[in-house]
Amino acid sequence: MAYHLCKEKDISILILEKETDVGFHASGRNSGVLHAGIYYPSTSLKAKFCLEGNRFWKWFCKDNQIPVLESGKVLVSKNDEDLKTLDTIYERAIKNGADVQKLTEEELALIEPLAKTYKRALLSKETAIVNPKQILNKLKGILCENENVKILFGTNVKNVCSDSQVETNNGGFDYDYLINASGTDSINLAHKMGVGLKYRLLPFKGSYKLLNRKFNSLVKANIYPVPDLKYPFLGVHFTKAVSSDVYIGPTATPVFGPENYFLLKGVTFESFKILYTIIILYFTNKSFRKLANREPKYYFGKTFFNDTQKMFKSIRYEDVLPSQKVGIRPQLINWQEKKMEMDFVVEKTGNSLHVLNAISPAFTSAPAFSKYLVDNYIFRD
Ligand SMILES: Cc1cc2nc3c(=O)[nH]c(=O)nc-3n(C[C@H](O)[C@H](O)[C@H](O)COP(=O)(O)OP(=O)(O)OC[C@H]3O[C@@H](n4cnc5c(N)ncnc54)[C@H](O)[C@@H]3O)c2cc1C
Repeated sequence: MAYHLCKEKDISILILEKETDVGFHASGRNSGVLHAGIYYPSTSLKAKFCLEGNRFWKWFCKDNQIPVLESGKVLVSKNDEDLKTLDTIYERAIKNGADVQKLTEEELALIEPLAKTYKRALLSKETAIVNPKQILNKLKGILCENENVKILFGTNVKNVCSDSQVETNNGGFDYDYLINASGTDSINLAHKMGVGLKYRLLPFKGSYKLLNRKFNSLVKANIYPVPDLKYPFLGVHFTKAVSSDVYIGPTATPVFGPENYFLLKGVTFESFKILYTIIILYFTNKSFRKLANREPKYYFGKTFFNDTQKMFKSIRYEDVLPSQKVGIRPQLINWQEKKMEMDFVVEKTGNSLHVLNAISPAFTSAPAFSKYLVDNYIFRD
């Protein structure tokens, strides 16, 4: 948002970031996939911004000499039910303007020789891969060069004292307009301003494994399963990183804190509220219960391996290697309806804007989504 704001208007922008640099959380820990807007209903914000964001980032990367792998991705199926979902995704993709192609098993073998499918697959041609940290660092550099922008690292916004001042560990800061885009903390800050009260946070951890490097040159692009469209997650998949390493993941396990990356790290008082949210959802929401029963099994290598084996030929248990890569998604729960919110959520007051539920593909969508927010919310009047 700062990138668009500082280009278009002569205003001063102060970015308050609690960490010592950019990319400590979701934006620096994601799969780096520039999605192509294929999964989402055409009326959703995800559909509205994903493809435009994908194209913007490709342009941005080329303009700034940042590597981008325009490799595309294939979606592979396991059974007849998957084939029905594959058709739904194909129709949604076409409606959203994405470039997709149905593949037979023979056609798939030419594109991705090691991918396995049942009867048919789908190719998304515009899906691409970047290293998100390279993008974030470039953006930081562009912003730091602009005299109207100041980034204060190590500045944690703890409270909003009035409609014109925030309180941080580095003192108070006055504002005319506040944009709350603080990822996992967005809903907490919004609640402090009486905004988004029907939502609660439920963080979902995504862990990755590394594929044995002997396959690096054999995997051409990205191999995804057909997802269950009831969930906001795409299922454990193979992603070929810019480095050529192939990651398998991410899982989607409910955890007890927005920064609960490992064991008890990041467990705080908020964890009790999150635990309560998990328990209530478990008993009231069938889809969530299914997910909560299934996901912990991924802690055991065998489940991970079984999933990968369904999509990938000639893989052995020893080929799925441990990896430190992990990220957390700030999933919102609509507490009135006891269900997971599937789309991005935006709420506003007179002089504040709150970006909530910035879940995948929010990294891809960010350039288009933020431009829309700047044009239609901040400068509308
Ligand atoms: C495992 C995983 C895989 C994903 N894969 C993809 C993908 O392939 N493609 C894709 O498009 N999307 C993907 N996503 C989603 C994408 O990464 C996120 O939607 C996006 O990065 C969200 O950006 P954000 O700026 O809202 O949040 P963040 O990146 O979390 O940024 C929020 C920032 O606010 C700071 N902050 C928080 N609280 C405060 C506070 N109180 N005061 C000051 N600063 C604060 C944080 O330190 C952080 O730097 C993935 C997400 C995960 C977790």
